[in-house]
Amino acid sequence: MATVELHDKRFEKFIFHDEIQQSVQRLANTVFEIYKNETPIFVGILSGVVMFISDFLKKYPGNCEVAFLQVASYHGGTQSSGVVKLEIPLTTDIVNRHVVILEDIVDTGNTLEYLYKMLKQKPVKSLRVVSLFFKPGVYKKSLPIDLIGLSIPNEFVVGYGLDYNGLGRNLTDLYKLIPS
Ligand code: IMP
Repeated sequence: MATVELHDKRFEKFIFHDEIQQSVQRLANTVFEIYKNETPIFVGILSGVVMFISDFLKKYPGNCEVAFLQVASYHGGTQSSGVVKLEIPLTTDIVNRHVVILEDIVDTGNTLEYLYKMLKQKPVKSLRVVSLFFKPGVYKKSLPIDLIGLSIPNEFVVGYGLDYNGLGRNLTDLYKLIPS
């Protein structure tokens, strides 16, 4: 499908599944190089991370554990609200562990900053951030992102876990909004 319609908006194919998979593989290899003698905990940020974390885990060759939490910052539209709310707290104890936050996309960075500060309050051994997609043109924070899969322009995107008002998460490619 070259274009898709979700609710009142149309989206066109932007990044193909194969390219996404290559990025996920690169990220899994790089993370493994850092932690190969350890058992890190990958903290997935629901719900957008579902496709990424599933593929990442399949490509990660070492021992690891997985935990989740859910926050909301896009309340249904195509722009971040700026207000981050914790909806599901972290599902596993991370004290004294190597923790890697896995994000689907970093946009303004509000969500990431909120999460980083929250997790940093715990006495963890290390805390790193990996984001599959990153919008450098919108990022407003100084917090460094340790690993980035693909940098993209300031476009609203759906697919590969990302949604518009709940739809589009199941698309295996990434699509961008067609301006109306
Ligand atoms: P931030 O707090 O502005 O960095 O936004 C982070 C969260 O907003 C991500 O984890 C996504 O859930 C959502 N988000 C940001 N950009 C997009 C997009 O282009 N499409 C769909 N969701 C997005």
